[in-house]
Formats: sequence, C-alpha cells, structure tokens
Amino acid sequence: MARRSRRRAFALPEDCLFCTLYREGDHVHAGDGFVAIRDINPKAETHLLVIPERHVETFREVGDFPAEETKRMLEFVAESAHEVGLEDYRVVVNVGPGAGQTVFHLHWHVLGGVTRGLPE
Ligand code: 5GP
Ligand code: ZN
Repeated sequence: MARRSRRRAFALPEDCLFCTLYREGDHVHAGDGFVAIRDINPKAETHLLVIPERHVETFREVGDFPAEETKRMLEFVAESAHEVGLEDYRVVVNVGPGAGQTVFHLHWHVLGGVTRGLPE
C-alpha cells in the first residue's frame, strides 16, 4: 500500500475555510472582493472577520495585493465596522502560529466593545 502523503502545513485555496466562507458565508458586508462575517467564537461583544477574496496565507504576503486593492481592503475594514454600528474598535491581524493565527488565509479581526483574552 502506498504511503499517504503528509498533510500540508497550509491549506490550498480549494480546501481553505476562508475561501469557502468568502463564497458561501453569512456576510454582514460584502463587495469589491471582500466580505465581513461574524467570528464563530467571538473574543469581543462584536467580533467581525474581514476576508479578502485573494488568497494569501498571512499578512507577510500583503505585498502580493495590488496597491489599489490594499487601499480598498483597509477601507472595507472601516466600512464593515461602520456597518455593524461600531464607532470605537480594534483591528487585529495575527501573523503566524506563534501570534495565534489558526486560519492561513489573510484576515482582519474587527473587535468592538468588551474584549476577552486580549491585551488591555
Ligand atoms: P486567527 O486565529 O487565524 O487569527 O483567526 C481565525 C478566526 O476564525 C478565529 O477567531 C476563529 O474563531 C474563527 N473561525 C474559525 N472557524 C470559523 C468558522 O467556521 N466560521 C467563522 N465565522 N469563524 C471561524
Ligand atoms: Zn483561502
């Protein structure tokens, strides 16, 4: 029997959770190649995830985005917060497993209200 190959450390886009949620998730805001969804395990009263359609594994690869798309992504983060009524909030990106990243498709956490397990 052939040996099974080891699982890849990082998901490829076709089996990537956030590529799937980009296509079929419950979006609170969507448009222009970006979506915002509510985090399944919220660490704040309001906890959104902003997910770009473009699959890069981490924030380290943010340079793979065309400049205009990067600007749009930041605007979309702000719009998503506004969409759910947040005036004051935090924007967090976990970069790499050592910083708590668990899904290897770049995403932005938008955290409003009381947060849990995050620095004051
Ligand atoms: P990370 O730890 O990579 O920075 O963030 C991944 C986030 O995705 C976590 O906060 C986790 O709760 C959230 N998450 C994991 N699986 C799902 C899911 O199936 N649906 C949603 N909405 N969020 C998820
Ligand atoms: Zn992906």
